[in-house]
Amino acid sequence: MTESNVAIVGAGPIGVELAAALKRASVDYVQFEAGQIAQTIYEFAPQMRFFSSSQRIQLAAIPIQTTDQSKCTREEYLAYLRSLVQQLGLEVRTYERVTKIERIGAQYLLRTQTQSGQAHTHQTSKLVLATGGTSTPRTLGILGEELSHVGHDLNDPHKYFRRRVLVVGGRNSAVEAALRCYHAGADVAISYRNAKFHDRVKYWLKPEVEMLIETGQIDGFMGTIPVAISSEAVTLQRVDSDETIEVPADFVLLMIGYLADMSLFRQVGVELVEPANAPVYNEQTMETNVPGVYVAGTAVAGTQTTFQVFLENCHVHVDRIVAALTGAAPPPTPAPIAVPET
Ligand code: NAP
Repeated sequence: MTESNVAIVGAGPIGVELAAALKRASVDYVQFEAGQIAQTIYEFAPQMRFFSSSQRIQLAAIPIQTTDQSKCTREEYLAYLRSLVQQLGLEVRTYERVTKIERIGAQYLLRTQTQSGQAHTHQTSKLVLATGGTSTPRTLGILGEELSHVGHDLNDPHKYFRRRVLVVGGRNSAVEAALRCYHAGADVAISYRNAKFHDRVKYWLKPEVEMLIETGQIDGFMGTIPVAISSEAVTLQRVDSDETIEVPADFVLLMIGYLADMSLFRQVGVELVEPANAPVYNEQTMETNVPGVYVAGTAVAGTQTTFQVFLENCHVHVDRIVAALTGAAPPPTPAPIAVPET
């Protein structure tokens, strides 16, 4: 069994930023990550470009340099994170999933499992859950959803060259996926349950997708939802009638969002508020209703449907947790970001 004063669960950007701050403050900590550092970003499509400007997603006050001074691509941000972890000498126990947490008096016992199946136990008095808000894809619960040509991640658009792709969803992920597939030479259709794309679709994406639909270069099935998927087609149903439409598809991209995994919060007794299952916490310290258990990053919002909490407005969680753990005064609350870029 290993021991530390603080255990961080999750090594996404905010988890890494917290580790950097704890190291700077000479706080003894250990960090577990079920996958690789920034696993969620690693799973984004190649060359995905962040909506947020680099200054808003930089960590530990270390600037991000990109080759052309543009916003970061996935690859640039992952390289930045690897370099930051190396330069600051941060230890992360990657591919070691925390499977169970028990409270024993004022201590927490973490059971973990490594990639090779080895089980370990770790004891800590303070626990920070930085497990993010997008652990598992949202599902539709329809026939055929589990077929191998149906997915929730765009992947490399090369995969879809000269194949028929049906994208489901009507916000940024779906519209960006449809445009990238179209530009990669796929035959693209998009199904959205509303009559118009969502207002939050970026101004540089929306006019283009609308023009491609208007000119028949992308098939737009607005006001429809998928009700069944077969190996060769998707059955769409109109939301305002019983009419169904068969859309041939070689690949189906369900860009319908993700759910947060709040199971570790539940295990330690953190109160979760419906409908998002957002944890109850103190905004000055980030400590949850369970003493010694803190929350950092987008996990504070549980499963988001109207996104308000992003990497760019979570940095203050780090300062609050470090202040709480070192007995310093909480940092001032930053002015809200008037226009989030994400
Ligand atoms: P999202 O929450 O992933 O969008 C989900 C879409 O699926 C919505 O259009 C939703 O419809 C639809 N949907 C949900 N449940 C459904 C159901 N049961 N049946 C049919 N449709 C369903 O939001 P997002 O904007 O695409 O992406 C999430 C976050 O990632 C945002 O903050 C976004 O800005 C960010 N993002 C960043 C980048 C980038 O940096 N390059 C790219 C993409 C996304 P409704 O609209 O009706 O709710």
